[in-house]
Amino acid sequence: MSSVSVVGLGAMGSALADALLAAGHTTTVWNRTPAKAEPLVERGALRAATVTDAATAGEVVVFCVLGYADVHALVDTAGAALSGRVVVNLTNGSPQEARELAVKVRALGADYLDGGIMAVPPMIGSPQALVLYSGSTASFEAHREVLQVFGRAVYLGDDPGQAPLHDLALLTGMYGMFAGFLQSAALVRSAGADVEGFTTTLLVPWLAAMAGGLPQMAAEAAEGAYPAAGSNLAMQAAAVDTLAGLGRAQGVSTELLAPLFALMRRRVEDGHGEEGLAGLVELLHRG
Ligand code: NDP
Repeated sequence: MSSVSVVGLGAMGSALADALLAAGHTTTVWNRTPAKAEPLVERGALRAATVTDAATAGEVVVFCVLGYADVHALVDTAGAALSGRVVVNLTNGSPQEARELAVKVRALGADYLDGGIMAVPPMIGSPQALVLYSGSTASFEAHREVLQVFGRAVYLGDDPGQAPLHDLALLTGMYGMFAGFLQSAALVRSAGADVEGFTTTLLVPWLAAMAGGLPQMAAEAAEGAYPAAGSNLAMQAAAVDTLAGLGRAQGVSTELLAPLFALMRRRVEDGHGEEGLAGLVELLHRG
């Protein structure tokens, strides 16, 4: 069993500390507003009076506060007390912020792991929770058992920026899916049809079936070659005119998917109508 400190006891930090306690790790907690430590102390956590004490107490020191500016201030305060520790930063931020924080932490003689939590607090500690890690390989290997307490732990290499990059890429995919759902729900509702039934019995299975094609599209994007497998872009671009027309007829705004439709038309105009949809990635990022 390891000694782990959790700095930041908001909704997420409290869930992380609870999972550590449930797994039997010696768990020290600190929060700016001390009252939030009470329930955890009642469940067996040790209370640190200061962030410096929290750093001293843990072989692994988990930071989970609102933003990177807050982590920087706390790391500055703890300073040399972090020497020899493994800092695991689970605060959301950008790849560049992760890399800059890693430099500061290493200068204090500590190891750095960045983490992206793909879960909401009630999921922490369950197999449904996923946490992406990047940074020190040795520390990930040495403390894998602790890191797996929070959920499935996936390591993405020694560049600390990879965890936040993959975290944000996953959120990007999620918002794309939500955009499609919102548009289709608005269309179905505008026709007075059953949005819930449509979603449960038709949309969710349809999206699951379509998601099955993503690995092939990913292979094409990696290769930069986009052979159409039965549904070329010219055909799809013609069909989106019907989609946009239906929206207008139903009094449903088409602004959500209009940028995607515009990209499809542009790619066809550029002479790629015989290719597949994945070729749009070339308009977003030149390979
Ligand atoms: P909360 O708003 O519940 O908690 C914020 C925490 O940050 C509190 O402990 C707060 O302390 C602390 N804090 C804020 N500013 C400072 C500061 N200047 N100095 C010290 N402590 C500070 O947020 P969450 O716990 O939900 O989120 C924490 C991190 O986890 C965020 O980066 C978030 O993006 C990430 N995350 C959250 C998810 C979620 O669903 N909740 C999902 C995935 C990631 P105090 O109590 O004193 O205000």
